[in-house]
Amino acid sequence: MAIPIPNTTAVIVGAGIGGLTAAAALRRIGIDVRVHERATELTAAGSGLSVMTNAINALASLGISLPLEEHGQAIEEFTIMDRHGRVIRKQPLPEVAARLGAPSVNISRAALQHLLLEAAGDVPLSLGAEATHYETDENGVTVHFGDGTSARGDILIGADGFNSVIRRQLAGPEESRDSGYICWLALAAFDHPRLHPGYVGHYWGRGQRFGLIDIGHGRYYWWGTKNMDAALSRNWTGDKQEIVRAYDGWAEEVQAIIRSTPEEDILAVPSHDRAFLESWGSGPVTLLGDAAHPMLTSLGQGAAMAIEDAVMLAHALTEDRHHPQTALRAYEDQRRERTRAMVTASRKLSALEQLENPVARAMRDILFRVAPTSVLSRQLEVALDFPAPAGKLGGRPAARESST
Ligand SMILES: Cc1cc2nc3c(=O)[nH]c(=O)nc-3n(C[C@H](O)[C@H](O)[C@H](O)COP(=O)(O)OP(=O)(O)OC[C@H]3O[C@@H](n4cnc5c(N)ncnc54)[C@H](O)[C@@H]3O)c2cc1C
Repeated sequence: MAIPIPNTTAVIVGAGIGGLTAAAALRRIGIDVRVHERATELTAAGSGLSVMTNAINALASLGISLPLEEHGQAIEEFTIMDRHGRVIRKQPLPEVAARLGAPSVNISRAALQHLLLEAAGDVPLSLGAEATHYETDENGVTVHFGDGTSARGDILIGADGFNSVIRRQLAGPEESRDSGYICWLALAAFDHPRLHPGYVGHYWGRGQRFGLIDIGHGRYYWWGTKNMDAALSRNWTGDKQEIVRAYDGWAEEVQAIIRSTPEEDILAVPSHDRAFLESWGSGPVTLLGDAAHPMLTSLGQGAAMAIEDAVMLAHALTEDRHHPQTALRAYEDQRRERTRAMVTASRKLSALEQLENPVARAMRDILFRVAPTSVLSRQLEVALDFPAPAGKLGGRPAARESST
């Protein structure tokens, strides 16, 4: 267990996945932390996500586990298929996860948020607190909120997501980068003879793909993408019938889950990221999660990177316990290359997945079919291996399989 850091106060803006994990991590090292969230109640939008092995191991290092008997489902199979459900390639994800000592887990966002809130314990949380800007001085930082109130701390952690106001003040105005497609997503109670516990199926079509993911307890998370101009995807006004038509002729289970999902449960979000930001902080201010390095969803690593950031930030603060601002710079330096690699790899994979040209698609599928399992395993391992630092924050190290 790390030696607690007394007499340091931290203000976290944003109670999403990264902000709540940071609250739990900083609390564990004795920092006096308070979270400010713009929403007036904490209700995660009704979809799911994969919490990959690296994030599970990062959470475990804080002593946080996901109780699968109550929430979520470990990934037992990850298959890439064509739109008819014919196998292109099984990804060796469960095997790599087993070697790294923890499964990758699919879970509803609501359940993950609930577990992180529990882990943050007695950390005070102010709701309806929309940060507008901050001011720094020689003793720390003051964050101002839309209702005229403010909060003071030795350090400020901007965990306020894709449209972060803390990032905007640090980095100036930026354009987001649209990736040229829309993403529909939903959770549904579902079953089908082709599916089994721990199923993750990605179906690739022409400029379109579909993900069908078992989150356990009789529920599936699904997402579908379709190439679309940014002007349309940002303000999509279509209906469920448009989605049903988009997947006409696809594998039976894909069509069935769309049909069985109530229209009001389907969300539509544009797919976008930003140019990678080299500097995430200055003085007593830093960023984490999507505020620092928003990425496309293809690798399923956005939330995992936010969780890793939070844990690494706590480690950096324990390493340089008397100089929190130096610790913030050390944290940013430690995270830069890993998160940059994820942003880049997510973009590359996304471009391959959304291909329209039939020749390029055929070549892509052949490449995936013939790629040696050792190459796929190595790529997965780079992403799924949490770079756990020495020293613990109250949890357990990953129980890795011996490589001999
Ligand atoms: C369709 C889709 C699928 C995805 N699937 C996966 C997946 O399978 N696995 C994975 O790891 N990741 C996935 N991601 C990415 C993941 O959701 C994000 O990377 C993750 O939520 C980032 O966490 P965060 O805490 O940085 O930001 P968020 O979770 O967005 O939280 C930011 C919080 O800050 C609050 N906030 C914003 N502005 C202010 C303000 N001014 N003042 C106060 N509070 C503010 C917001 O209300 C919010 O609560 C997916 C994303 C999408 C869109």
